[in-house]
Amino acid sequence: MAPLLETDGLRKTFGALVANDGISLSVKDGEVRGIIGPNGSGKSTFFNTVTGFYQPDGGTVTFDGEDVTRLASHEIARKGLARTFQIVSPFESLTVRENLLAVHSKGLRVRSEKRERAGEILEFLDIAHLADDEASEMSGGQQKLLELARLLMLDPKCILLDEPTAGVNPALQKRILDRLLAMNDRGTTFVIVEHDMDLIREFADTVSVFDQGRIIAEGTFDEVTAESRVRDAYLGA
Ligand code: ADP
Ligand code: MG
Repeated sequence: MAPLLETDGLRKTFGALVANDGISLSVKDGEVRGIIGPNGSGKSTFFNTVTGFYQPDGGTVTFDGEDVTRLASHEIARKGLARTFQIVSPFESLTVRENLLAVHSKGLRVRSEKRERAGEILEFLDIAHLADDEASEMSGGQQKLLELARLLMLDPKCILLDEPTAGVNPALQKRILDRLLAMNDRGTTFVIVEHDMDLIREFADTVSVFDQGRIIAEGTFDEVTAESRVRDAYLGA
């Protein structure tokens, strides 16, 4: 079966710094792929380049059989490839519900349909009771749920998550993970950058290890963490 998401030789430089040095990665439909690697190894840059927030200096991105390398970020999102940010930024002066209604989702043309879908998503993520609160009143963890809720308005096939549980209290972390697993059961593909190794071990089918802008190992969590070059990368050797 053809991969759902594939990058081939993806390269991104900032001046003399090579942040992504030829990243070739292939994710199957329905998979959960973990990406780990030390700080500064190019994980967030990779997400930005894949989703059109940065223009790559070389290489290609193919999603669902289509070359999306040069598309704008909103076009890529509408094709079903969505992403979250390490730092979330909802519209703080809008309510939680208004934040969802502000998303331009091509599947939901009629306002009543859009409201209904927003209601379902808020229920699914257990934040329906906050629907009329301003986003600025939410905790950091709740804002991460709101960001996820906004993505779900696009009905994405694949979601790239950049540190979804960082800075979130354990109870809310568990809820976020539980919801992600439920979505994966229904067929959503995930690529997840996380520093929490327990989470990656539990959640990811396969893991790609980044170091200095390259992939240095790939396999199951146990396979990659057994490799000495992966241990060395984390020890800064
Ligand atoms: P990670 O997410 O793995 O911690 P990043 O992708 O954020 O790593 O960063 C990779 C490298 O690229 C780092 O050296 C970082 O300083 C640099 N970098 C990232 N974004 C930019 C940018 N917009 N301008 C200049 N350098 C950047
Ligand atoms: Mg990062």
